[in-house]
Amino acid sequence: MINGEKVLDHPIRWAMVGGGRGSQIGYIHRSAALRDRSFELVAGAFDINPERGKDFGIQLGVNPDRCYPDYKTMLAEEAKRGDDKIEAVTIAVPNGLHYEVCKAVLEAGFHAVCEKPLCFTTEQAEELVHLADSKGLVVGVTYGYSGHQLIEQARQMVLHGDLGEIRLVKMQFPFGAYNTPVEETNSAARWRMDPTKAGPSFVLGDVGTHPLFLAETMVPDFEIESLMCTTKSFIPTRKLEDNAFVIMNLKGGAQATCWASAINCGALHGQKVRIVGSKASVEWYDERPNQLTYEIEGEPVRILERGGAYLYPSARAEDRISGGHTEGLFDAWSNLYRRFAIAMEKANKGEKVDFWYPDVHAGAEGVKWVEKCVESAKKGAVWVKY
Ligand code: NAD
Repeated sequence: MINGEKVLDHPIRWAMVGGGRGSQIGYIHRSAALRDRSFELVAGAFDINPERGKDFGIQLGVNPDRCYPDYKTMLAEEAKRGDDKIEAVTIAVPNGLHYEVCKAVLEAGFHAVCEKPLCFTTEQAEELVHLADSKGLVVGVTYGYSGHQLIEQARQMVLHGDLGEIRLVKMQFPFGAYNTPVEETNSAARWRMDPTKAGPSFVLGDVGTHPLFLAETMVPDFEIESLMCTTKSFIPTRKLEDNAFVIMNLKGGAQATCWASAINCGALHGQKVRIVGSKASVEWYDERPNQLTYEIEGEPVRILERGGAYLYPSARAEDRISGGHTEGLFDAWSNLYRRFAIAMEKANKGEKVDFWYPDVHAGAEGVKWVEKCVESAKKGAVWVKY
């Protein structure tokens, strides 16, 4: 059970690039990082508009001198500081900036937490993997719900053979809110439809990579052998797909599917992962994150509740309150940031990290998956080797 006692020698001195006033995702980063006193927000280049960014940083309690007009100035000025310089930077800007900012942060010798997608191409991803590994730096990628305890429970059930041999993995993240050209009036939607800012895909990268990483976590030997993808833009003015279906053959014989969509009318998120084994299945649904459905063939359906005494111990270690009370996205993100912080401290001490978290390799895998899906779709929905 997490109770707020400190887990690090000192909070990691932390900065943000992006995540400014009005951004969709900035607050949950701060809420997660600051919750367990593992990070301390000391600097930032929070906004594309420097004045607004500085004003916002001051409102967050950051020293005005350390509210920088842009990330390059921030990295250069912080490098000149003594013992109080930043140690880690979160990158919460639109996709097109992830690669250059993450590279600059690593080159400056700081740990990074980067929004997905890590970058646009596997070449860029390999460069970031090499930089992080060679410098002994941590890159955490915010696949937020992977920090939820019932994802760990599903992982343990797969590892312990409770489901038998894994046969099928069914993933989906089909939301409905972009079923009309909302990008005409919504700036956060607009950059997501622009290939120069969003990358080679919209829904595959924006939402499809989330259940992909959940599935990779739940099924530890999840490894794609080949895939086939078809995409479509139902809103004709869009340059990127707003719906995608992917079929995958996995090494070892299992098969998987993923449906990513922004035009699934009426659906809030609809993010689900169902793992089907030879004995039983589990299903997790992000709109009811505290319940994991466990279906053994021939028996009544069981609902495993977060916090239940019957869960595997590692699925209870990050509870913040007993079962029956709701935990959700904010708590899962806090668990992830806690792991990022512990990984960063271990890296600083030259110690091995002996637990999983969405790291630079996970980020690179998401980039490769999107790239392969786009390749298949562009070739007319053909099978491509992974
Ligand atoms: P947004 O458009 O709402 O906000 C972007 C923020 O970045 C704004 O504050 C903007 O001023 C700032 N910004 C833009 N360019 C900048 C620059 N050069 N320097 C400093 N700040 C700059 O976008 P969002 O929805 O918050 O998405 C940001 C990132 O987070 C995207 O990569 C997106 O894919 C990702 N995201 C992840 C999740 C998740 O669940 N992990 C959810 C939503 C968004």
